[in-house]
Amino acid sequence: MEKETIEKYIEAGKIAKKAIELAKKIVKPGASILETAQKIESEITKNNGQIAFPTNISTNDFAAHDTAFPNDTRTFKDDDIIKIDIGVHIDGYIADTATTISFNNNKADMLKASREALQNAIKITRPGTNIGEIGKTIQETIESFGYKPVSNLSGHYLGQYTIHTGTSIPNIKTDTDVTLKEGDAIAIEPFATDGAGAIRDGSRAAIYRFIQNRPVRLQAARKLLTFAQKNYSTLPFAARWLKEPKGFMLDTALKQLVQAGALHEYPVLKEIGNGTVTQAEHTVLIQEKPIVTTA
Ligand code: MN
Ligand code: MN
Repeated sequence: MEKETIEKYIEAGKIAKKAIELAKKIVKPGASILETAQKIESEITKNNGQIAFPTNISTNDFAAHDTAFPNDTRTFKDDDIIKIDIGVHIDGYIADTATTISFNNNKADMLKASREALQNAIKITRPGTNIGEIGKTIQETIESFGYKPVSNLSGHYLGQYTIHTGTSIPNIKTDTDVTLKEGDAIAIEPFATDGAGAIRDGSRAAIYRFIQNRPVRLQAARKLLTFAQKNYSTLPFAARWLKEPKGFMLDTALKQLVQAGALHEYPVLKEIGNGTVTQAEHTVLIQEKPIVTTA
């Protein structure tokens, strides 16, 4: 990996870390989810980072992929377990990091389970490590707290302007030939739950990604697609980032574009046993001495 590339990864990581620190300050009972997302995203751009994906704010049995939708009126509640997952990039070099927040030490040991699983995984992360070993370490750590890892969520390799290159970093013991190599960039993200240990797609989505140009009937949908292709050609975007169309027309346009195969939608991910889910995530550059860019 070139020195300049490493520097960009590190800079993105620093900005993402700052955004997580801001989140820890502003996520409070009664705070607006929409304003929280907006403040975190302004913090990123204020520090000259680019937003790699909409700030995921997923509570309780929703593990990931939730974010504020347009005109969202939801607020945080006293007993919420809140996952904040942030993406920053510099020229496409991505920092992906997440933390879990609760109030009054609620479910503190479940927060600790995912955090410690991440720390233990990072300890064995170096060139030559089989990624199945990372999954094993995560699983054993989470189980030692009496919880289950979410088996069908995983970390991933990062590429320039690509959040998920196609290879996953497992959260459970896995048989694989894949070993880490110098120059790899990966996100490690254990999820712990007191539920069934798996997620399924929920019934709503607020995050989308451009796939390809497809003919659609609705003019508002065609305009939306042109805008998305121009501004978010490879990275995900939030419905709330679009200035037009609004309201029902926005929902209709997004639905048409998803049906036409022009946009990919990311449904919210819900724990199948309605268990609470916690998450911790860092981005690591695999070097002779690995660099945790978001720590
Ligand atoms: Mn993430
Ligand atoms: Mn990730």
